[in-house]
Amino acid sequence: MRDGLQNEPFILSLEEKQELLQRLMRCGFEQIEVGSFVHPKLVPQMAGTAEVMANASKVTDVAYYALIPNLKGYELALKAGFNNVAYVLAVTETMNMRNVNMTVDESFRQFHTIYKMAKKDGINMRVYLAVVFHCPFEGVTSRETALHWIERMAELKVENICLADTDGKTEPKQLAELLNEAIPLVRQKSPKSVLSLHLHKTYGNAEINLKVALEKGIRHFDSATAGLGGCPFAPGAKGNIATEDLVAICHQDGYETGVNVDELAETSKWLTQLKTL
Ligand code: ZN
Repeated sequence: MRDGLQNEPFILSLEEKQELLQRLMRCGFEQIEVGSFVHPKLVPQMAGTAEVMANASKVTDVAYYALIPNLKGYELALKAGFNNVAYVLAVTETMNMRNVNMTVDESFRQFHTIYKMAKKDGINMRVYLAVVFHCPFEGVTSRETALHWIERMAELKVENICLADTDGKTEPKQLAELLNEAIPLVRQKSPKSVLSLHLHKTYGNAEINLKVALEKGIRHFDSATAGLGGCPFAPGAKGNIATEDLVAICHQDGYETGVNVDELAETSKWLTQLKTL
């Protein structure tokens, strides 16, 4: 709901967002990113995240996430009843500056402050390491830089460390090479942390990258129903891998997802119709 909707020109009404959330729950997803607490002036599509959450008939076996850009966002997410928050750290200076107007180190310090509060508040934290493979401004991200941030997050025992192929330019070979080092590194530093992957389909690599990651042992992926979305601050970033494709590939390769494919197809159809209205 977050990366999917935030870069689409159409804006769902509160009722439509609530319906989308209920539909995704019926599909059987265990983790849903409901929205963000980025200022509505910057990302108007994400206005009303607190209201969506307040009016949802929530179930206990679903983890509801909100993306937070800063401490204020954290406080708003907490007030709105989120038990899971996601923070974005772009690992290149240009991208991070454009994204949140801070250096990478400033962002990390802010993250650390929020993370310590989250521990006290019993909130699960997910960190997106954005442009961890490739940056639209600085080109290929070095493996040293990527591993440096993965290691720092694993040392802090962040619950979910998400590697984001923000602009969709990750090549399968680069992905495989990074995972070869990142997976044992996280396992060693923080066995309970989940290493997850966030793929964009901009350059047509998302599906092959998904297969590479499955083979390497990654089991948590971000996706967006109907492949909606992008990133408002990363030029050219197209939507996430479509949830339908993700689920189909997993099933074809013999993995169980627990997702109801008929319900998912309905949801995708419904969402696509809303988009074209
Ligand atoms: Zn994204």
